[in-house]
Amino acid sequence: MERPGRFADATAELEEAQYVVLGVPFDRTTSFRPGARFGPDSIRQHSWNFESYDLETGVDLTDVPIHDLGNAPEFGSAGQMVASMRSELAPIYAAGKIPIVLGGDHACAPPCVEAYPEPSELGVLYLDAHLDFRASYLGDDRSHACSSRRIVERVGARNVVVLGVRSVSKEEVEDNQGIGMPYVTAHEVARDGIESTVQRALNMLKTDKVYVSLDIDVLDPSFAAGTGTPEPFGLTPRDVKYAIGQVAPRLAGLDIMEVAPPFDNGNTSALAARLAREAIVRNVVARRGR
Ligand code: MN
Ligand code: MN
Repeated sequence: MERPGRFADATAELEEAQYVVLGVPFDRTTSFRPGARFGPDSIRQHSWNFESYDLETGVDLTDVPIHDLGNAPEFGSAGQMVASMRSELAPIYAAGKIPIVLGGDHACAPPCVEAYPEPSELGVLYLDAHLDFRASYLGDDRSHACSSRRIVERVGARNVVVLGVRSVSKEEVEDNQGIGMPYVTAHEVARDGIESTVQRALNMLKTDKVYVSLDIDVLDPSFAAGTGTPEPFGLTPRDVKYAIGQVAPRLAGLDIMEVAPPFDNGNTSALAARLAREAIVRNVVARRGR
């Protein structure tokens, strides 16, 4: 493999970049098995596997201004990570750029949303096997088990929709009855098909801009075994590719979290890299059409 130090085709300077990659090698809130701290570099390494030219759209990523900021430093606590991520991402949004954040565990997602300058104008598509809706987990309200809850507190329950969920505690369901964050389960996707379920989910988000938080465990473990909390009966790579393609014209930012390379042979990192490239390519096409 070549050039693992940065994301493939990320050759632009920060000033001219439209897409800005940032790695967050933080997995201190992982609840089952750690390893997501190795996600950013593994995703970068596997990104070099792909051709820069996209057959479906005709977009060549060598023509797209992408910058890679490298990795955030190590953090001793989730609180430190949150504060640092907010200040790192705020100027990226302010400059009209789209951040592509590579985690790291899912605790790294809420600060990416919290850094957005107009939270009431931001929808969030939250792709996850889990609801992540605990008020607090093991005494930490910044645990990856609390991430959708923190995001709802920022943008409002009606501006978030979870897609692909299939693992949830009774307490989370009961808590949510009074809060009302909508979700579409993986079982509904299997029953109704990805096209109608994605449309249903995206129609719930009334904002122009949508932030996409992709917990890689939304995919079935047969496709994405390299993750900390694998959950059977998940989405296919094509399902997630389709969802990303549909939301891409409204894309405000993207994170890909919970890729834990120690648990597979690199397939999950390759898939994560490919999905990040899909989001960029589809957003480029939408911008050209404007
Ligand atoms: Mn999650
Ligand atoms: Mn999850």
